[in-house]
Amino acid sequence: MKLIDHDLHVHTYLSACCHDREGQTPERIRAAAAAGGVRTIGLADHVWANPDVPASAWYAPQTIDRLVAMRRDVPRQAAGVRVLVGCEAETIAPGVFGITPDAAACVDFVQLACSHFHMTEFVAQPASARPRDLADHALAFFRSAAGSGLATVIPHPFLTLGFQEVIPAMVAAISDGQFTDAFGVAAERGVGIEITVGYLANAPRRDAALRLLTLAKQAGCRFSFGTDAHEPAALARLGELAFFADALDLAEHDLLPLARGG
Ligand SMILES: [Zn+2]
Ligand SMILES: [Zn+2]
Repeated sequence: MKLIDHDLHVHTYLSACCHDREGQTPERIRAAAAAGGVRTIGLADHVWANPDVPASAWYAPQTIDRLVAMRRDVPRQAAGVRVLVGCEAETIAPGVFGITPDAAACVDFVQLACSHFHMTEFVAQPASARPRDLADHALAFFRSAAGSGLATVIPHPFLTLGFQEVIPAMVAAISDGQFTDAFGVAAERGVGIEITVGYLANAPRRDAALRLLTLAKQAGCRFSFGTDAHEPAALARLGELAFFADALDLAEHDLLPLARGG
C-alpha cells in the first residue's frame, strides 16, 4: 500500500489564517484527496478551548463549538476518503495549553503545537534569538506538549515560527541525547511526530529536519504526514514528503495508528 496516503494537518475556512475561504471547504478538500489518492484527511483548524486562560484576540473567535459542529455535519467516509475532524491547539508556555482534556475529547485528534513563537504577544519567548536559547526554549515546549496527555500529534516539531532563519543552527545546538530524551517522552505516550511540508523550505532546514526525524524514529516515535495546507494548492504538496519517507526508510508500522485507519 501507499505509505503517504493521509494528510492529518489541513486547515479549512474555519481557521482565521485560511487563504481561500471558498476553496478550503471539507467537501472540496475531500474531492482533492480522492483525486490524489489520499485516503485519510485530518482537518486541524486552530482552536482555543481553555476557559481558564484568556484567549488572544486572534484565538478568541476560534472556538471548539465550530469544530464540533463541523464534526457532526461532515460525513466521516465518502468518495473513498475518510475525513477526521481534529484541531490544532496551542502551547503558550510549558504546562499552559489552549485546550482542556474535556475539549480534546470532543474532536478526533489534537495536533498540539509547541513552536508558534511568532505569536510574540501571547506565546512565551526565548531569552534571545541565539541558537542555544532558542533550542532550550523549543525543547522545554516540546517536552511539555508531548507529555501533556493532550496531544495526539506534535505538528511541525522544532519548526520554530518567527525564528525560521535560526532553525538549522538551533537544531545543531541540540545534542543527539537531548533529542532522544525529548522524543522518548513522545514515544512513551504514543504521541505522533508530524512530518511536515514546512521542513522542505530550503536545504539546510530539510537536512536539520532529517536529523531530528532520524532520532525520533530511533527513539521509537510513530509519524504522521501533514501539509499544513491553508489553500487548495498546498494539498498537492503531500507527495513531496516522500523525500523523508525514503530517507528514513519508513514502513507502515512506523506510522501513527490514527493515520493508518486506527
Ligand atoms: Zn502550526
Ligand atoms: Zn497548522
